[in-house]
Amino acid sequence: MIDLRSDTVTKPTEGMLQAMFSAPVGDDVFGEDPTINQLEQMVADMFGMEAGIFCPSGTMTNQIAIKLHTQPGDEVICEQFSHIYQYEGGGIAYNSGCSVRLLIGDRGRLTADQVEEAINPDDVHKPHTSLVSLENTCNRGGGSCYDWKEMEAIKEICLRHGLSYHIDGARLFNAIVAKQENPLKYGAMFDTISICLSKGLGTPVGSVLIGSKAHIKKARRIRKVFGGGMRQAGYLAAAGIYALEHNVERLNEDHTHAQILAAALAEKDFVSEVLPVETNIIIAQINGRYTASELVKKMKEEGVMVMHISTNQIRLVLHLGISIESVNNIIKVISDL
Ligand SMILES: *Cc1c(COP(=O)(O)O)cnc(C)c1O
Repeated sequence: MIDLRSDTVTKPTEGMLQAMFSAPVGDDVFGEDPTINQLEQMVADMFGMEAGIFCPSGTMTNQIAIKLHTQPGDEVICEQFSHIYQYEGGGIAYNSGCSVRLLIGDRGRLTADQVEEAINPDDVHKPHTSLVSLENTCNRGGGSCYDWKEMEAIKEICLRHGLSYHIDGARLFNAIVAKQENPLKYGAMFDTISICLSKGLGTPVGSVLIGSKAHIKKARRIRKVFGGGMRQAGYLAAAGIYALEHNVERLNEDHTHAQILAAALAEKDFVSEVLPVETNIIIAQINGRYTASELVKKMKEEGVMVMHISTNQIRLVLHLGISIESVNNIIKVISDL
């Protein structure tokens, strides 16, 4: 089976497993796990931020960030398809007691003008707007990347209105590699950044939230309350260190593979549109001989697993488990459909 349902399906490679086996560990709730401490500092340093905190999931790092930047009754500005709203179980309301101002973006991306219009005036009737959260790359936008200028313009507005600025960077390294950006610039712009190690970077578990020392100190308390304080989790952090040393630049391969597959899909009569492919995600509109779910079933029979994300859209995600040989096999399957 070739599994393109998500880049979370990757399994640790031999080298990663070796790194995990040989990791020195300790009780991280006491701050004594050297491997976790190393990973947290490593991610913070990559982005030029002060500190980091290792968490079991990207949902937790995002939810901790939202809690950090808000008070109950506040409002969070984000895009309608953003992970923090669509796929975190209502956590913004549940964990932080906040309402959400959902904006309709362009493949998941907001503009500075939209953000500015969505900020509530200082009026007792209105919830207090306190946080803007972006997502880069945008998952439901088909792996789309923000334009640097737009993120900068949104930052200006956050500064002018005293809003915190968080980025859900579950796949931030895909954007950084694709657009040849400097991570230090992200660190200088955002108050907090959430990075997933278990997506394209290929670890079994883990995300890191980075920010100022004060924010991360507070984040440790919130993580404990959320039940995310872990003990000898250095075995997992070691996978993260390995991933950051070995699996960042190679994301380019996934992006190339995505381009190749998108071109093959675009030729099929039942594909009415393929969203522009900027990184490792392909979203194709299905219209004609198959419904999206029929196509998923048919491809599975041929040994290729993809996901339908709506009645007429399928999603394919490239990752380090997919070699160029696999890509060629997938193309064969697609051409026979
Ligand atoms: C996967 C993902 C997350 C985090 O998901 P977890 O499964 O909780 O690690 C957050 N944001 C985006 C955009 C994602 O794709």
